[in-house]
Amino acid sequence: MAGGPRDTVTDAGAGAAAPRMSAMRVQRIFDALGAANPAPATELEHSSPYTLLVAVVLSAQATDAGVNRATSRLFAVADTPEKMVALGVEGIAAHIRTIGLWRAKAANVWALSRLLLERHGGEVPRDRASLEALPGVGRKTANVVLNEAFGEPTLAVDTHVFRVARRIGLSAGRTPEAVERDLLARVPKRWARAAHHLLILHGRYLCKARAPECWRCPIARDCRFPDKRTAPAARVKRGFRNSGGDSEPSQEEAP
Ligand code: SF4
Repeated sequence: MAGGPRDTVTDAGAGAAAPRMSAMRVQRIFDALGAANPAPATELEHSSPYTLLVAVVLSAQATDAGVNRATSRLFAVADTPEKMVALGVEGIAAHIRTIGLWRAKAANVWALSRLLLERHGGEVPRDRASLEALPGVGRKTANVVLNEAFGEPTLAVDTHVFRVARRIGLSAGRTPEAVERDLLARVPKRWARAAHHLLILHGRYLCKARAPECWRCPIARDCRFPDKRTAPAARVKRGFRNSGGDSEPSQEEAP
């Protein structure tokens, strides 16, 4: 185990050539993550499958906190496809200018709302093909909506899931699709629905990209990352606990 705090770490070699992790070890990892987060859920604020879909579309290359600030304004005036279409692209844009790619996102939200009315009676469809046919909706967004809104055991691979799965040794996949396949095959049934959120929350608040907090990690024993960090003594003395926070883009950022 390498010690001492550093500014950055890399995932070089993490899981890349490691033998397949045993089912028992995978079970222990998810049991521990589940115990640490008994009720994992998206941090994107929403009140319906429709508002969840819009929030996830807006979350590309944006933080959940930033999206929540924008949607608190947007959903106050338009929380249904009918109201969103009536608001128009410019009206939507006026509420979401604080997040990245707002022009394209405003156009997509308006167009997907119109298509929901035309094709699905204003309801969010529960099947992947129909979801992915909507403007601005890719595989990751469809996975999040199917999981969060409909309870399907899908696994959206965002930047956190991609990094954490490879770092821990759950997957050596080089693409989000490969990591998704590995995780779907290896995550225990009991954790199939929660796995997506458990890995995101673990990556966002503890197994961070540049500074994983291995010294307080509940899965350190089973994690294969060869370069685990020890506690920065000075920060521990000051009572440092968690420098986490929503500092990284979330759902749709390309890993
Ligand atoms: S010990 Fe925990 S925080 Fe450290 S790399 Fe492994 S999973 Fe991440």
